[in-house]
Amino acid sequence: MMSKAFFENKFNIEEINYTAETINITVKSKENGALCSKCGEYSNNPHSKYIRKFLDMPMIDKKTILFIISRRFYCKNSECLQVVFSE
Ligand SMILES: [Zn+2]
Repeated sequence: MMSKAFFENKFNIEEINYTAETINITVKSKENGALCSKCGEYSNNPHSKYIRKFLDMPMIDKKTILFIISRRFYCKNSECLQVVFSE
């Protein structure tokens, strides 16, 4: 289970939406970049972003859904075969 301190160090809460059945929490990483999954080179050169449904958890009488805004970056290593990677 993710600890509160770990979560607060890593993510900013962007939005909280309440519906009749759910609480939708959208968070975004505090990091400006990420390490390439193939070569490990750091990149802060953004390509695109998308929203991932990360976690579904029952809370009191509502279902809570955590969404993470995930970003893709261009790898800065010209020899790396992974042109674009996700954080
Ligand atoms: Zn790379």
